[in-house]
Amino acid sequence: ANKKRPSSTQNIKVVVRVRPLNKEEIEKKVKSVVSCVSLKEILTKEKKYQFDRVFQPDSSQMDIYSYVVAPMISDVLEGYNCTVFAYGQTGTGKTHTMTGGDPTLSANVHWRTDDLAGCIPRAAANIFDEIGLMDAVDYNVRVSFLELYNEEVRDLLCEEERPSPLNLFNDSKGSIYIQNLNEITVFSSQDIYILLQKGTHKRQTASTLMNNHSSRSHTVFTITVHIREVTMTGEDVLKSGKINLVDLAGSENIAKSGAKDKRAQELANINRSLLTLGRVIQILAEKNNKHVPYRDSKLTRILQDSLGGHTKTCIIATISPSSSSFEETQSTLDYACRARDI
Ligand code: ADP
Ligand code: MG
Repeated sequence: ANKKRPSSTQNIKVVVRVRPLNKEEIEKKVKSVVSCVSLKEILTKEKKYQFDRVFQPDSSQMDIYSYVVAPMISDVLEGYNCTVFAYGQTGTGKTHTMTGGDPTLSANVHWRTDDLAGCIPRAAANIFDEIGLMDAVDYNVRVSFLELYNEEVRDLLCEEERPSPLNLFNDSKGSIYIQNLNEITVFSSQDIYILLQKGTHKRQTASTLMNNHSSRSHTVFTITVHIREVTMTGEDVLKSGKINLVDLAGSENIAKSGAKDKRAQELANINRSLLTLGRVIQILAEKNNKHVPYRDSKLTRILQDSLGGHTKTCIIATISPSSSSFEETQSTLDYACRARDI
């Protein structure tokens, strides 16, 4: 009840990361149609956009982590909820940014020191390093990893080969509860890397069974920290905070909403989560007490206690510089721009 407020409440940051042209694009002599005109401005052939930060193609995983996630870790340990979203067209670097590493390795045991490590393994290492520096009486760190596909929640950390969908409930206090979702207690960053690997593998298995699965699903990786401390006056204080690292479905799914085939419902559902998320964040950023439609999609229901109120949110919009992706890039930048906290 006597929580100290974080330096700013309801803090929403929006950054853009431009991936480098890949080998194929370079060979095809594809033109780059976006340029970073300053640390905060990006120019496409039609429009200039402003963000909190723009990360150029040569930016490192560490650059992104230091700006976006590292400042959230102390908030999490103080008992606040933080969320990072990767939003963008398939192939622009969402998974590279959130998970990173070499996906061909069966166990990324060197994640802590790996240049390619993304935000999730870096956050894992950082949280345990910080806890080591605190004089917490007692602490508990837990991890959950879920996938949302076609408005169905599946547990990526369950033992079953083909997990069945989980039910969502709102408890009496209005918090969301996901029935039977594994929340695994971890004792080191290494434990977290192994769970990340396990869940990623489960997702990839599903992917090969179903066309376009991974580009149409959202994943939410959550690290929850409970810390018990004794204050100077001898009071016992329990703080619990968490960080959600969300790898969203490809933004191209929004544009394809006109599809009339049997996939239409599925696409409508992917759209529902992406569009509701956009609306929720836009309303929160406007700070005008409008009704926030958390309940309109599963994704925003799951994240309700981490969006709005005393929380921090960052959207990392990932884009390709290639002329062949121009329209999609423009639409990603428009979506990201609407989410800005101004
Ligand atoms: P998404 O998850 O958005 O579909 P990926 O993260 O899978 O995209 O990225 C597609 C490919 O591009 C991968 O091979 C990835 O390693 C590479 N890639 C993406 N972003 C970068 C980057 N910033 N630097 C180098 N390679 C990148
Ligand atoms: Mg991906």
